[in-house]
Amino acid sequence: MKEKVSEIRNLLQEHHNWFIQSIPLIASENITSPAVDEACASDFSHRYAEGWSGQRVYAGCKYIDKVEDVCMELTKKYFDCLHADVRPISGVVANLTMYNALTSDNNGKMCCMSIIRGGHISHGPRFAKSGREIFGTAGTTRGLNIEYLAFDNDEMNLDIDKSAKVIREFEPELVLFGGSVFLFPHPVKELGEVAKEVGAYVGYDAAHVAGLIGSGYFQDPLREGADVMTLSTHKTLPGPQHGTLVSNREDLIDTLRSCAFPALLSNHHLHNVAGLAVALAEMLEFGKEYHKNVIENAKALGQALNERGLSVLMEHKGFTESHQIVVDIVEHEKTIGLGGDIEKLLESSNIILNRNLLPRDLTEGRHYQNPGGLRIGTSEVTRLGMGKSEMVDIAEFFKKLIIEKKDPKKIKNEVAEFRKDFQEIQYCFQPKNKAYEYLKFY
Ligand SMILES: *Cc1c(COP(=O)(O)O)cnc(C)c1O
Repeated sequence: MKEKVSEIRNLLQEHHNWFIQSIPLIASENITSPAVDEACASDFSHRYAEGWSGQRVYAGCKYIDKVEDVCMELTKKYFDCLHADVRPISGVVANLTMYNALTSDNNGKMCCMSIIRGGHISHGPRFAKSGREIFGTAGTTRGLNIEYLAFDNDEMNLDIDKSAKVIREFEPELVLFGGSVFLFPHPVKELGEVAKEVGAYVGYDAAHVAGLIGSGYFQDPLREGADVMTLSTHKTLPGPQHGTLVSNREDLIDTLRSCAFPALLSNHHLHNVAGLAVALAEMLEFGKEYHKNVIENAKALGQALNERGLSVLMEHKGFTESHQIVVDIVEHEKTIGLGGDIEKLLESSNIILNRNLLPRDLTEGRHYQNPGGLRIGTSEVTRLGMGKSEMVDIAEFFKKLIIEKKDPKKIKNEVAEFRKDFQEIQYCFQPKNKAYEYLKFY
């Protein structure tokens, strides 16, 4: 079996070698700092600590409790809120916690974005239902009835009037904002008022935009009417892969806590709680600058791609107010292909991004396997120190591949050369142990 260990080591090495020569543009990804990696590699990864800090079911938790207390403190500071639960092990688990707390067991009703317009699989009726069936140990074994909020394709945002009508007619228990394709702030204030009219709670899934929100950009859901906000800790917030739930509703805290544990959690991946605390400290120090640059880079990349003949959605609104842009590549179908084909073409030149459904794919009959769009995010390239002039360089690579149809092998070499100057993670503190600076690069 020793050779299996070498095999895994070699594959990891190859993966690292590949990624340090690549341009990482997947909007849901980011890269953690050496100081976060150091915390994640600690002995915490071997330990168990069920329950709330100070009330554990295991011995050996005295330092774990202190770290988790710091993590909760920093989360509350970053999002300016009363309650922070840093135990959900992913954004989906945070969402399931919210569903369990805010909807009833029998045919609970929720309004949210449809997946095809940019909602997340964990908002879909199938997932919400199966999630409850799989995880529903606290008596929540039935699925949610979902009615989708109305979407305005031209504005790439929720249609306020039509969505208000949906909420009034459907009378949900929970109205959920937020999504995975997320260019502009959602009308939480306007539709939140309608939700309150029908007695619904307001939720906000900040998986993608949590870092932007914490650093003071995009929007401020907890002050616009959201009762609960959930997040992934590894998208615009550059922490380890984990989840979090926050709220300002003092009256809901006990319910929210008990709907996480003992219901959807046992152990909650304590090393990632430690890593998250470090990432939050980094963002409280550097987040204002980092996330400002993330958003400016997204706008600059949209502009640069557009100027080079690619159709970036939402030019009339400056392309985006988040870390993402969406490109419509349907016009290249005859020469290169659709989203899936272009994703592969770019990958062969070490440009890593993902294909994405466009609103118009639905009416024009395209499938999510090979849709008409690409989604591009700037969180990771910004963390590697790239700025607006590098966004122009990246747009040039796209032009050479998609419009000029240059040889992908040649572009791959150019990409590797370009990436040589961007090997260090910015906006972070140094680790105590130098070894962690090289952890990702062997
Ligand atoms: C990524 C994402 C999630 C969940 O992410 P995890 O992978 O479970 O952390 C939830 N909601 C939205 C909108 C997302 O984009």
